[in-house]
Amino acid sequence: MPRYDHFVEELLGFLLARLDEPGFARLVTHEPQRMTAAYFEGGGGRAETRTVSFTGCVTCSQIPPCTLFRSHGHIDVPAWPCLPVRELALSFANAPYYRDEWRPEFTVVASGQLVHQPDQDQLS
Ligand SMILES: [Zn+2]
Repeated sequence: MPRYDHFVEELLGFLLARLDEPGFARLVTHEPQRMTAAYFEGGGGRAETRTVSFTGCVTCSQIPPCTLFRSHGHIDVPAWPCLPVRELALSFANAPYYRDEWRPEFTVVASGQLVHQPDQDQLS
């Protein structure tokens, strides 16, 4: 059985200890799941397809079958924790053990790059 990495386990544990029922239902919708993405690796006259495993979200990180990303840097699928999970955690930002790297502005995609965030001021 695949296990999640420590970062994922830690946030899951933090949330499960604090969520109420609606919050838990939301977390279930955004459960972590081990995923694989295929990407193209070219250069030096050789080109090959490689795969990378990462922890994604069952809702936010869906990859259509047979998707081949142009490069590792083009894998723009959100990694877990996705933005909705980070927003859930943010409501416990004053609780002990909350980590700043769980904040929504640090949402990353599978390639490790930050997700571009919409302007928070526009949320009403
Ligand atoms: Zn999600």
